[in-house]
Amino acid sequence: MSRTIGIDLGTTNSCVAIVEGGQPTIIPNRQGARTTPSVVAFTEQGDVLVGSPAKRQAVTNPARTVYGAKRLIGRKHASAEVSSFAASCPYPIVPAPNGDAWISVGERTYGPQEISAYVLEYLRGAAEDYLGEEVKQAVITVPAYYNESQRQATKDAGAIAGREVLRIFNEPTAAALAYGVEKEGNQRLAVFDLGGGTFDISIMEVHGGVFEVLATNGDTFLGGDDFDRRLIDMLVDHCQKQTGVELEGDAMAMQRLKEAAEAAKHELSVSPTSSINLPFIATHEGAPVHLIYDELTRAAFEGLVQEELGRLEEPCLKALADAGLGPDQIDRVILVGGMTRMPAVQERVVQIFGKKPARDVNADEAIAMGAALQSSVMSGELREVVLLDVTPHSLGLRVVGDRFSRILERNSRIPCREKKLFVPVKDDQDFVTLEIYQGESDDVRDNHYLGRFTLGGLTRKDGTVPNVEVCFTMDADGLLHVAAVEVATGKAAAVEIQPSGGLSPQQIDRMVEERHGGQVH
Ligand code: AMP
Repeated sequence: MSRTIGIDLGTTNSCVAIVEGGQPTIIPNRQGARTTPSVVAFTEQGDVLVGSPAKRQAVTNPARTVYGAKRLIGRKHASAEVSSFAASCPYPIVPAPNGDAWISVGERTYGPQEISAYVLEYLRGAAEDYLGEEVKQAVITVPAYYNESQRQATKDAGAIAGREVLRIFNEPTAAALAYGVEKEGNQRLAVFDLGGGTFDISIMEVHGGVFEVLATNGDTFLGGDDFDRRLIDMLVDHCQKQTGVELEGDAMAMQRLKEAAEAAKHELSVSPTSSINLPFIATHEGAPVHLIYDELTRAAFEGLVQEELGRLEEPCLKALADAGLGPDQIDRVILVGGMTRMPAVQERVVQIFGKKPARDVNADEAIAMGAALQSSVMSGELREVVLLDVTPHSLGLRVVGDRFSRILERNSRIPCREKKLFVPVKDDQDFVTLEIYQGESDDVRDNHYLGRFTLGGLTRKDGTVPNVEVCFTMDADGLLHVAAVEVATGKAAAVEIQPSGGLSPQQIDRMVEERHGGQVH
């Protein structure tokens, strides 16, 4: 039987693991590193670079080097999140025919799922080299707070990479599994996961090998990139005032600035000051311009990111409330994601939960290890673990007056199924059109639209009103399946929800075919 790998497909870095002898093991990539930058570059010669080689050449090839594709996956080009990302992004983001945010590279456009597919393919290659055999299946992790579109798009990335995605698995659950599989006794955990682009908080209970997610919340557009952006803006401003030179718009300079800002942020996690020194960042009236910022203090950096730090609290409080617990009832807070190394983030955690977070989890590797463990649970190798996960958002239908009629409530245990009866709005109507939404607002227009379908030819006998029973099923991947039945006749319609971000099988086939040009390194 072919082995299954666990992949943490991160915004900034990705990681692959496998279970060997009952223990999760990180598989090093072809450069020998345990994590791989989630960066894909397209050279002028038609080659594709993935990981460190792609990241290294970003300064000289910014418009064809794609990073942060996970921030775009399953999102519309016109959304506020994509607009804000596009404002500082060196590669062009364009609308796909269905309005999704895609990436333009030279003559071609790529869906973010195609970019992610390159990263998945690369990691799979590393795993195959390591194991000396073909790997056909993978468990891929996603933020727990991802919606349908984002989950489906991630699954599509696996299909484009030519591999079966055995399970889409929530990152915090994976981290808890990596943390808790060895631990004894009952514990309530808060998994606080702040990565490069997303923030997730999950409240879990672990008792006798059963991992039960009680509630989950988060912000799928809050992460390290936003912290970097604040610093970059400050430095652009500083350069403007010192030298009169506007760096915004100079892709090469901005790429250097981005790397320097991130490095300074990392340094400030361990030392009270850092400096930025970027000689020859630009030229002005024929003379070179150097960007030097000598005394960047940790306090000054924290001042710049007050808004981002402030956004961490509310999702935690909501998740606690949904779990019906107070912060004092949490036994352990587990930190995951590179951004949790920032001292101010850790201070926020202490403020919110009233206790110091655990330090015995490797923030960069825990998720991939948990994904590998999940594959062992699924294959039956790891029998003593049971996972009970939840759906992060409510799902339902649009009804009269743009109201949202919930069918599956958020934090329902998955897999799950719920049914509800609906009647046509008008007396003489012989069809119903069902519009499916995801979100928490009673006004459906504030929620995320997933798709629609019509059940026609309803029968009306003796002036009776036809009843339509709508059934929502959420599978173990957190993906939704919807079916509707006219109760009197049994006439049925089922839809495969293909949310924005989801691709048709034909589109996936085309993308797979188009990948055969060029060399992938
Ligand atoms: P992840 O998606 O978990 O790999 O998290 C990546 C994010 O964590 C990026 O924004 C990194 O810049 C950030 N990060 C990694 N190490 C540190 C550190 N020592 N201090 C602050 N941020 C860090």
